[in-house]
Amino acid sequence: MSLTSSASKKQEIKLGEINKPDKKENKKLVYNTKGLNLYYGNTQALKDIHLPIRENEVTAIIGPSGCGKSTYIKTLNRMVEMVAGVKVTGEVMYRDKNIFDRSYRVEELRTRVGMVFQKPNPFPKSIFDNVAYGPRVHGIRDKKMLKQIVEKSLRGAAIWEEVKDRLGENAYGLSGGQQQRICIARCLAIEPDVILMDEPTSALDPKSTMKIEELIKELKQNYSIVIVTHNMQQAARISDKTAFFLNGEVVEYDETDRIFSNPSDKRTEDYITGRFG
Ligand code: ADP
Repeated sequence: MSLTSSASKKQEIKLGEINKPDKKENKKLVYNTKGLNLYYGNTQALKDIHLPIRENEVTAIIGPSGCGKSTYIKTLNRMVEMVAGVKVTGEVMYRDKNIFDRSYRVEELRTRVGMVFQKPNPFPKSIFDNVAYGPRVHGIRDKKMLKQIVEKSLRGAAIWEEVKDRLGENAYGLSGGQQQRICIARCLAIEPDVILMDEPTSALDPKSTMKIEELIKELKQNYSIVIVTHNMQQAARISDKTAFFLNGEVVEYDETDRIFSNPSDKRTEDYITGRFG
């Protein structure tokens, strides 16, 4: 048996285990990635990825720089397609539909899946208009309704009290941590099912980081969250499940506590104990 086929057999076994309902909580699958390969031209950035994302959980994606974390999270909303020359094979099932099927409408996906980026990226608009942006795009014009959505979203992002008296001010006037929470509020305003976060605190100071971490723990009650982080302590603090990526592969996926206390793969152990990365 060649190395490749034995590797894919191992993946199949893993997938079988992964697909069992979560025994403790019986949480539903939001995403199920099956045999995903992604190429930037001739460079393969993701290799035979099998990974579930479960409802109302925080799933952390960890691994050294360049191992495919960001590429993976950007496949979940098909943002990765914006890069010229990208080729994808395999399946990414979102709520039982393969988002890479030709008939799948990416616009629909983007209304269900919000994204928060590494660097806060508010629009050069007022705080109110930032949060009202998505609902307006979806045709909501009623002022009273927009006000309600904006307030609910800002409350949901734990920033209402800080900005309620300055909603007309430009969001650029806020601190980095506040801007990031405005971006989270903007995301909540479209009532997403899933929130993708690509290193959302790496540009923030420790105090703002803690606020966002607290917020993530609250948000998982209503949303499913996937977070890429290079900060292992952060993954340990806030996530339920962790996937360890290395060279474009998922080396290990498990309960976060297990990954950090008793990983089953030597490479995971070496990474979390700081032997490389
Ligand atoms: P990580 O998020 O873990 O740092 P990335 O997903 O950004 O890793 O990158 C994975 C691999 O894909 C790297 O080898 C990187 O150089 C390559 N890559 C990422 N983005 C592009 C791109 N737009 N074009 C070509 N190669 C890319």
